[in-house]
Amino acid sequence: MTSIRENSSCSGPMQYQQINLTDADVFEQEIQLKIDDTNGSLSVFIVDMSGISKLFTRSGSSASASFLRSVAQLLVRVCREGDKVYRIGDCTFGIVFDGIDSVVMQQLAAEKIIRLYNTAVSELEASFKGGISIGIAAYPEHAANAVDLIHSARMAAEAASNSGDPYLVYSPEALSTMSLKWTIQDDLVAAIKSGSLNLVYQPKFSVASGRPIGAEALVRWDHEDHGPVPPSVFVPLACDIGMIDELTSFVLMTALNNASDWPDIGQNCSVAVNLDAQLLRKPELYDLISNSLSIWGADGAALIVEITESALVVDSKSNFDCLNRLRSAGIGVAIDDFGTGFSSLSYFKDIPATELKIDQSFVANMHTCDRNRKLVETIIALAHRFDMTVVAEGVERAEEFELLAKLGCDVVQGFYVAEPLAHDDFCELMAKCDQDGFGARCQDELGKT
Ligand code: C2E
Ligand code: MG
Ligand code: MG
Repeated sequence: MTSIRENSSCSGPMQYQQINLTDADVFEQEIQLKIDDTNGSLSVFIVDMSGISKLFTRSGSSASASFLRSVAQLLVRVCREGDKVYRIGDCTFGIVFDGIDSVVMQQLAAEKIIRLYNTAVSELEASFKGGISIGIAAYPEHAANAVDLIHSARMAAEAASNSGDPYLVYSPEALSTMSLKWTIQDDLVAAIKSGSLNLVYQPKFSVASGRPIGAEALVRWDHEDHGPVPPSVFVPLACDIGMIDELTSFVLMTALNNASDWPDIGQNCSVAVNLDAQLLRKPELYDLISNSLSIWGADGAALIVEITESALVVDSKSNFDCLNRLRSAGIGVAIDDFGTGFSSLSYFKDIPATELKIDQSFVANMHTCDRNRKLVETIIALAHRFDMTVVAEGVERAEEFELLAKLGCDVVQGFYVAEPLAHDDFCELMAKCDQDGFGARCQDELGKT
């Protein structure tokens, strides 16, 4: 009969020593002994739990300890003679299934664990958002010794957690996807730390004057082996690995440094920087921004922070506190990707925004799609009622530009007027616009309307 053995050295935030489990070393030694003694097939399961620390914070140590105890008990219920459960980490269990050697048997065991686990969650009184990820590896198919077998199962568990699958059987493909991700993560950390990311600047043009009134700073990463990695991929990755503060600090410092060369910066001209939702809840954000401004001797009016609409609807009270402080310092606040947040508009009452950026999906084809045109018209009227400047994003065609001008849109940004440019090219474009009066293409089209 399987037992969960005592580990008097159990420690950690959950304080669930009373569950009496063994540790990672014993897990490894006993697997190796099994391999040496019998040389028969066996499967190793790594069961990783997430969300326990939140449960601990919200409901206290006894609720989390009792939940962990019930999870441990249910794992024992899945075992048969010769199988064994070990506690190998604060929120991680290892199981050795003797004689399970087919994928079907492994899947059946994993399904059973998940079913029982879900029952344990449903019996919890506290609300709990955690889950489990199970990684599975088998001897002798996947590894020749205990160390490699556990390593393979751990990688499968991590791959499962990353892919959102509840369980995954180890395979070389899973390994190669994971090792690529780890390499990319390491490279991103190095790129952020060494400042080898770049910024490009996408000009924003005033519809009325045809002149650039600033630019949005967009971060770029040219990976040595994989080429350009889009920000939609590496910005969320930076959030996942806890590097978003460093990335944002790099973007702010570089953008404000570059913008200090722009004529009229802080008067009729500003640089816009995107802020991730996570940052809004951090008390350090205000200091980070005001320090960056003072290092480059810039006024608050030199900077606009762009926040996506979806970020604003989550926990809007604390987000607005931070935005209000930024506004008091004269910094502009833009609602980015407006129309994609699937939210009620109630946040409009309180938001201290100065600018609203209409998402590209509404701008695209607004000249052919009557509904898009009506939506854009309505958004412009709404923003103007709240004294916000309206920026149309992703303007790609002359027809869109003309219609936007007719509907009263204030500012345009998009490949039609200018693509994101290296800093020197952006400065050249501003100088040219000063001489010519208007941005070249923008002027031609304004002349036509
Ligand atoms: P966003 O802030 O909405 O930025 C506009 C995106 O639209 C940029 O993509 C820009 O290159 C692209 N774009 C501009 N004009 C056109 C057009 O006419 N047609 C099309 N199809 N696209 C156009 P990019 O640079 O790939 O950035 C994507 C998103 O990544 C940004 O969306 C922003 O949310 C995020 N991002 C970029 N830089 C940063 C950054 O420094 N920090 C943070 N937190 N996020 C960033
Ligand atoms: Mg933006
Ligand atoms: Mg946008």
